[in-house]
Parts: sequence; C-alpha cells; structure tokens
Amino acid sequence: MSIQQRLAKLNPRQQEAVRYIDGPCLVLAGAGSGKTSVITTKIAYLVQVCGMSARRIAAVTFTNKAAREMKERVGQMLKGKEGHGLTVSTFHTLGLNIIRGELKALGYKPGFSLFDPEDAKALLRDLMNKDAQVDAEQINAVQHQISAWKNDLVLPGQALSHAVDEDEQYAARVYEAYVRHLKAYNAVDFDDLILLPVVLLKDNPEVLARWRRKIHYMLVDEYQDTNVSQYLLVKLLMEERKTFTVVGDDDQSIYAWRGARPENLVTLGEDFPRLNVIKLEQNYRSTGTILRAANTLIANNPHVYEKTLWSEMGQGTPIRVVVNRHEEAEAERVASEILTRRIKESASWRDFAVLYRGNFQARLLELKLQHYQIPYKLSGGTSFFSRNEIKDAMAYLRLLINPADDNAFLRIVNVPRREIGPGTLEKLANYATERGASLFDACHELGLEQQLPARAVERLGRFTHFIDGVRRRMDEGDALAAIRGMLHEMDYEAWLYQNASAPTIAERRMANVWTLIDQLEKSMKRDPEEIEAEESAETDDVEAAISRLVLRDILEQQAEEDDTDKVQLLTMHASKGLEFPHVYLMGLEEELLPHRNAIEAGTVEEERRLAYVGITRARRTLTLTLARQRKAFGELMDCTPSRFLDELPPDDLEWEGRADKEDPDKKQARGQDAIAGLRSLLG
Ligand code: ATP
Ligand code: MG
Repeated sequence: MSIQQRLAKLNPRQQEAVRYIDGPCLVLAGAGSGKTSVITTKIAYLVQVCGMSARRIAAVTFTNKAAREMKERVGQMLKGKEGHGLTVSTFHTLGLNIIRGELKALGYKPGFSLFDPEDAKALLRDLMNKDAQVDAEQINAVQHQISAWKNDLVLPGQALSHAVDEDEQYAARVYEAYVRHLKAYNAVDFDDLILLPVVLLKDNPEVLARWRRKIHYMLVDEYQDTNVSQYLLVKLLMEERKTFTVVGDDDQSIYAWRGARPENLVTLGEDFPRLNVIKLEQNYRSTGTILRAANTLIANNPHVYEKTLWSEMGQGTPIRVVVNRHEEAEAERVASEILTRRIKESASWRDFAVLYRGNFQARLLELKLQHYQIPYKLSGGTSFFSRNEIKDAMAYLRLLINPADDNAFLRIVNVPRREIGPGTLEKLANYATERGASLFDACHELGLEQQLPARAVERLGRFTHFIDGVRRRMDEGDALAAIRGMLHEMDYEAWLYQNASAPTIAERRMANVWTLIDQLEKSMKRDPEEIEAEESAETDDVEAAISRLVLRDILEQQAEEDDTDKVQLLTMHASKGLEFPHVYLMGLEEELLPHRNAIEAGTVEEERRLAYVGITRARRTLTLTLARQRKAFGELMDCTPSRFLDELPPDDLEWEGRADKEDPDKKQARGQDAIAGLRSLLG
C-alpha cells in the first residue's frame, strides 16, 4: 500500500495531523481513536512524501511492548533502506543512546553499567546501613523519594531545600551519597537514563547543538504519561525547530505514581503558543457497548478536555460480569472459558488477554492455564533469571570466566557479607580507574595499600584469593564440582536464610540456585544441535556453557519479543496502547480496583483511569470478573464489588453468579460514605 493509499484510509482529522509538519502538533483524543496510527503513518509520510531521512526522526513511547508494536507497524510501511537509522524506542532507550554517545561529556568511562532497581537498592542498603540498621521499608521509601526527585529534575544539591520533613532531609543526604557512589562505580540507574541527558543538554550547548542537528522531528506517543524530565528532554531537543507531534489522552494518565505529569499537556500549549491541537472522536477499536461503558465510567472524573467518542463497530454483545465464590474459582472460570470460547469464536489464543491490577493475581491463573495446557505469555512477572539469587549466582559464574567483569564483581563482592563496604569500593573504583585496571585486578595491585586501610585490603585480597582458587580448580579438573564447592564453601545458603523473611523462601531460593547449576551441567553435555554442526566437538567447556547461560539470560529479558500464539497475561498498566478482541478484567473488587492504597491516599481518579485503560483494550467482548472472597494475610476475607461496576451503564451489563446480591447493609454504608464525601467537598 502506498503512503497515499494509507493516508486516504485515515479520517480527515487524522490526515490533518499527519500532514501538518511545519510546527508543533498535539493530537488529543480518547482510546482507540487512532492516535498511534497517526504517529506511524506520519513517520512514513515524513520519509516518503517530505523526503526526510529516517535517521533524523525519533519516535518515543513508554513500554517496550508498545515500542515494538510501533516498530512493526512502521516496518510494514518503510521498505529497504528507507527506514535505516530510524529511532523508534522507549524514552529510556533514547536516553541510553544519548548517554552512550556522550560518555565523555558526562564524565563516564566506556563500559558503564546500568543498575537495575535491585542493584540500586543494594547500594542504598549499604549506604543507609552505615548509620543505623534500616529495614526494607525505609530503603524503599528512600529509593522512591530519590526516583521522584530525579523525575522532577531535582538534583542532589537541590534536594535538601526541597525536603519538607526530617525523612526527606535524610533521603536528600542519602541521595547525595548515592549519586556519588554510582559515579564511582561508573554506573547509572534507570531514572538517570532520562535525567543525565537532560542535565547534559541543558548545561552543554555544544552537545545540545549536536543532538539538535541529529534529530529533526520527534513523535511522542502516550504523552500524558511523561514526567518533568521526559518533557524537558523533548523540549530541549525540539525548542529550536518546533517540529514535533505528540499524542495523548489525559483520561489514560496512569503513571502519576512514577512522576507522570498530565499537566504537561497544558504546559505544552504554554511553551509552544503556536501548538496545533487536533482532536479525534471516532473510535475504530471497540463495539458501541464497550465504548459506552468506558465513556460512562470516565465521566465520573473531572475533565480538562471534553471528549466524545463514537464508534461504527455496531453495538456488539453485552459486557459480562461474572461473580465467583473465591479467587480460585475466578481463575478457574477464566481459564476454562478461554478454552471453550477459543473454539466457539474460532479465535486464536493470542486473541485473548487477561488483565489485572497486580502481578500477584496472575499466579493462580497461571496454574489453571497450565492445568488446561493453554499456552500463555506473562508480561512483566519475575522470570527465573530476574530473581536475586539467580542474578547472584550468574554474577559468580560471570566473574569466574571474566574477572574483569566489574558489574559481576560489584554485585557479589559483598554477597555473602564480607565486610566490604561502599566506602572501600568507592576508593577501589577510583584507584582502578586511575590505573586503568578492572576492579578485580586492582585488588592485586600493590599501590592499593596507599589508598585503603590494611584491613580493607586484606578483605579484598581474601575475596580475590577465594575466586582465584575456584578458577584454578575449574581449570584443573571438574569445573562443575568446583562451582558447587564454591557455593558450599562460602555458605551462600546461610546468607539466603539470613535475608529471607521465612525459611521456606530461603529454601526455595537455594533450590533455584541448584537448578541453575543443573542447567549449566546440561548445557555442558553435548548439545544435539551443536553436534550436527560440529561433528566431534566435545563441548565440555564450562566457559562456553556459562556464556550460553548469560546469553539465555539476555534473551529471557527480551522474551517479550515472543509473539507466538499465546493468551496474554498482563497488568492493566502494561496493557496501555494495546488491543485484543477478547478481554478479561479480573478482580473488580474494592481495595483491588480501586486499590486500597489509592482509596487511602484519595487517588481513586487514577484508578478509574486505569479501569478505563483496561476496558478500552477490548475490541469485541469484555468480561469483568470478581471474587466474593479472597485470601489476604493467610485468611479468607470477604470482598465488596468494585464501585466502578456501579458506574457502568446497568443495561449493558449481564450479571452471572450474583445469586445473593450485595449485602444491602454494606451497600447502604457505601452510599452514606459517598454522601458524606460529597458533603465535605461542598463544605
Ligand atoms: P490508545 O489510546 O488505546 O493508545 P489509539 O488512539 O492509539 O489508542 P490506535 O491504536 O492507533 O488508537 O487505533 C486503534 C485501532 O483503530 C487500531 O486497530 C487501528 O488500526 C484502527 N484505526 C485507526 N485509525 C483508523 C481509521 N482511520 N480507519 C480504520 N481503522 C483505524
Ligand atoms: Mg495508542
């Protein structure tokens, strides 16, 4: 299909949005109205009609899944070389690319490492434990605060003046040390991927000019979820040319808890007075019934921009609300229904998506799906390789085959505890940088004694000696025995027990580690495929086997690429921008959706937007499920149906299993709560 044909398929407002290229453009529209379609078509338009090089175009969005989908859609339009050098990525990947290109200006060495939230937490724990014993909750709070500051572009030097109470003052001090240590480790954290580029572009005109020459046109999807730093990144890059298109829907803003600022929609109009605002009103995704439900629900929120969505997809079937006895029955129901409905509707597995509020809700469902042998894909859950104990074990394996792997070194030098603190590591890192040596090698250098107290040098020496010993034993003979021996010798198991909240958890974690080593053993045995390629190769090489494991680890992280025919399980947050013919929304209960924290914090509006996002993923059928009882803290608790159910058009709902309707007392109590709430609002 040519670009002209593609354009002709869009409605007049969409066409206008695609064709408008001389200034800043905002497409503001509800779910399923073709915002993302505007972005993808516009990329092709810029290249094929305006003759812009794809290299000069950057399109950004929020989740990996959304970025991948967008890439795919664009890939179908741009042929061959046309798409070369095009950036379609998440905000964080764009930031990572800028950091990679500007390491020197940023004062980082090549080979910097990206700390994931767990790595960052470990560093915070060490820093905070210096003063006093702190618990996980305190660490989480500080981590959250630091992240909020970074998203708001508050630098360590400014945090103290932003702090409103003692806790925040404390967090500000930790923030300062945390940033210093990250730098010493030549590491950045997740939020730095946006923050560092923004600070650099702001402070360094040369770098700014370079990137402005590089990127001539920007497109941003899901703009309502940008935070301050992300908005500034777009603004800095585009301030001069003013050539960008952002699309968004304030009703789908669901990342306030991560610093998102839907007000950025308004700010944009202030910063770019010539902003061309285009509204889209036709929905091409959902049936009339689904759309009406979404519109009616979201009408309960206050609105900056009024939107009215309509659809030509026909009314479709009613929305089913299925009440189950308990959570297990709910999971059972969803799984068995998908099994039969796939055949009835002659659908594929991938046509079904099950959405829920929290990842924990997927566990029971997974069991049921496995029971029925239904293939499924879980997004965003903790996969085997992202478990802490597996990461530790992998870091040991990596260090054994490559002592220069500083990331691996940092991860496990003090795991189990060897009394090697962040202060020591900071000095070691500085010294290693000076000598141009790896951390591991720097431990062996004589000069280190001038930098560190004798006791610290001795502890580091003991660690490297230990690793060297294992390496020697691996070379000499049975590598696997050497690795197993290492785990016993350092008593990793005891460490797990010390750090787990319950012995059974520690037990399971240790079992995971042994599973990993078993995998390694299997991988060292001849790999049938490899033998075909390389007739007699004895693949009894532990290094190769470990590399294969590391690769599998990386692939696992990219496993989301896998779009074979599977039922999709994902959180409502992760479902943004996606669409499925048949959608199940689970757990429509008070305290779950809306979430208890949101009810307590008075942020139910954001939960309503979340439900809106969930509902608007559905194209043809929507099923809402809930349980009358759910386990919490080891006990079965009664659940109340979600208030959002009351906000849907009753005539469009088809209830099942509501034999004993809601306890009238409770309903009345809830009504009174609402009235009291209203009264207090009205003063
Ligand atoms: P969301 O807010 O959920 O991200 P969106 O506004 O980005 O939704 P799209 O995903 O671009 O919407 O489009 C929704 C569906 O409508 C897609 O299947 C898309 O192919 C289809 N669509 C978009 N525009 C048109 C059109 N003009 N004619 C027919 N189908 C369209
Ligand atoms: Mg979209």
